[in-house]
Amino acid sequence: MRRIGIIGGGQLGRMAIEEARKYLAHIEVLSPDYPSPGSELADVAHVGPLEDYESVLEFAREVDVVSYEIEHVSLPALRELERLGKPVLPSAGVLAAIKDKSTQKRLLETARIPTARWAMLEGGPGAPPSPAALAAAAEALGGFPLVQKSCLGGYDGLGVAILAGPEGPGALAGPSFAEAKVPIEKELAVVLARSPDGSTAVYPCVEMAFDERANLCDSVVAPARIGAAQRQRAEELALACLRELEAESARSGSPAGAAAGVFAVELFLARSGEILVNEIAPRPHNSGHLTIESCASSQFDQYLRVLLGLPLGSSELLRPAAMVNLLGAPGASGEPEYVGLERALALPGVAVHLYGKREVRPFRKMGHVTALGRDAGEALERAEAARDCVRVMAR
Ligand code: ADP
Repeated sequence: MRRIGIIGGGQLGRMAIEEARKYLAHIEVLSPDYPSPGSELADVAHVGPLEDYESVLEFAREVDVVSYEIEHVSLPALRELERLGKPVLPSAGVLAAIKDKSTQKRLLETARIPTARWAMLEGGPGAPPSPAALAAAAEALGGFPLVQKSCLGGYDGLGVAILAGPEGPGALAGPSFAEAKVPIEKELAVVLARSPDGSTAVYPCVEMAFDERANLCDSVVAPARIGAAQRQRAEELALACLRELEAESARSGSPAGAAAGVFAVELFLARSGEILVNEIAPRPHNSGHLTIESCASSQFDQYLRVLLGLPLGSSELLRPAAMVNLLGAPGASGEPEYVGLERALALPGVAVHLYGKREVRPFRKMGHVTALGRDAGEALERAEAARDCVRVMAR
């Protein structure tokens, strides 16, 4: 059995390891700290910075295949591993196309995959863009409000700011670009798994609700409550993204077949009916957590299959489902305490996943709840009812 190395110590790695046990797989994790959700379940936990070349190379020496559950990883190290013949899944070429969000936008634009209109923003090093730069971007993109996005380092909405005017209170410092603000009807996502032999499993399109207050994805419902043609369009666009990533991976010199792994494509259904690609994640994703209970093969199962060289499983949705994140309570800071789990678990069709984070902070993702139902609406009601029973407080 291949020894798998996962870079990143978060909940995605943790859920992958929970799944890996059934394959008796050996998993090592590189995490910036210990304990962390992923590292404490790993067979071997390595501690080191993920963006550090030496730290990643050293970690990879012990394993047969390297993967990552976060985008903020040393690309030069992944490139060097490929040069040394160590499998990296998804490839360094895939990460290079995704890690910098402006590179990703360029890839979508070049491939004529519909995406929100955008323009690079000029700013001094470490400084926010000037009012003149913001005004010029607004002029090109149809006016304010603009959505400003950091090129690097953003996650869970942290690298995203909505700017109402050129003075840009709240504008982000560092390299960034502006996007036209899309009038959004619904946010959608499609999770896919691709194996090195090119076979693909596409999960049904889900809908995501975004929580403005917490600035992150709050709930996910499967299947998305949209028309069949829209669902098909979303799935086609997700597949188109995968094809582009694969082509880009090959162009950049990564090995053939290495654009493999689990991917999530986030999309906007605009009020006009048009579907736009927002961004691509080269890893299991929050929008796929509900596949654990609702699909024959979950996104984490597929991820393990890819890393172990096993055939993909079925991505068929067996039951409508909904997932709601369990966030740290407002004001909660310190060692977490989970209140109300008994009441949540007494509800029908409810499953609870806790990530084991050692510290709770307001709105931090501490776990999630999935519920099944006869239809998407019932599943969401159950998941929200369960979420309302649970509070993640500080001890
Ligand atoms: P992150 O990678 O941090 O999740 P996203 O690009 O997904 O960042 O943006 C976070 C959220 O901000 C989206 O889910 C959406 O609600 C909103 N958003 C992002 N881009 C746009 C846009 N161009 N128009 C309108 N809303 C947007």
